[in-house]
Amino acid sequence: MDLNIKGRWALVCAASKGLGKGCAQALVAEGVNVVITARGSEALGATAQALRQLNPAVTVTAVAGDITTSAGRAAALAAAPRFDILVNNAGGPPPGDFRDWSREDWIAALDANMLTAIELIKATVDGMAERGFGRVVNITSGAVKAPIDVLGLSNGARSGLTGFIAGIARQKRIAERNVTINNLLPGLFDTDRLRQSTDAAAKAQGKSYDAALEAKRQLIPAGRFGSPKEFGAFCALLCSAHAGYFTGQNVLLDGGAYPGTF
Ligand code: NAP
Repeated sequence: MDLNIKGRWALVCAASKGLGKGCAQALVAEGVNVVITARGSEALGATAQALRQLNPAVTVTAVAGDITTSAGRAAALAAAPRFDILVNNAGGPPPGDFRDWSREDWIAALDANMLTAIELIKATVDGMAERGFGRVVNITSGAVKAPIDVLGLSNGARSGLTGFIAGIARQKRIAERNVTINNLLPGLFDTDRLRQSTDAAAKAQGKSYDAALEAKRQLIPAGRFGSPKEFGAFCALLCSAHAGYFTGQNVLLDGGAYPGTF
């Protein structure tokens, strides 16, 4: 199926690796021009180059910077004439015990996993509405539906974003202008983030890395970790011209790991 978004402009945040990269790949394959960001310029440059090879017909612009800062966001927003698609993403917060977290830890988590997405939506959504097309996808986490005890910073900050999105996605001046805002909730995907969290879990539980990884895999009915490629494909589908009636939703991509009926 042609997703009918060829020639659109997308900002894909935190996209040199992992899930953000998967989203950028899927959009570029559909003919979407992309601005991608990450802090480390080397991996970002390599990803930009690979995206250009994937589809030489599109414009790929790499903007190195921290998307959780106002300077990082301003640089990303200035890199294209307009944005029709926004994929919000940033690194996840560290694991730990809430007894050890300071106010600064909480502010950092809120900046990365709630306020940055809100600022970028604020900067782009009214232009999308004026032009009559917009797609916003926020990468959140399965932890929004089923909290993960050691990821309290993520559980809290991402739930704040989820509540905010539920409200604004339904604003008439957004929804009736063919602008949709949805959240994609990853379960366990095969990325650096999974490897880092598995390493931390192995150390905390006195297990080997392989044993900790296998314990995680056992929790997934599909019997495997998700791939950034399939995550990106789903993101592109939500960004497609065909998805205009789908808004304000939380879509869990977790191989069946969440055990609830709804
Ligand atoms: P990943 O493989 O570690 O990739 C993270 C990407 O984000 C990298 O390109 C990184 O590049 C960039 N990044 C991180 N912080 C940034 C910042 N402040 N500004 C700009 N770019 C930044 O992580 P992932 O697995 O794709 O995870 C993406 C998001 O999904 C995270 O919030 C994660 O917590 C969440 N999530 C992942 C899973 C999973 O199983 N993988 C599950 C649930 C939720 P630089 O480091 O160079 O900036």
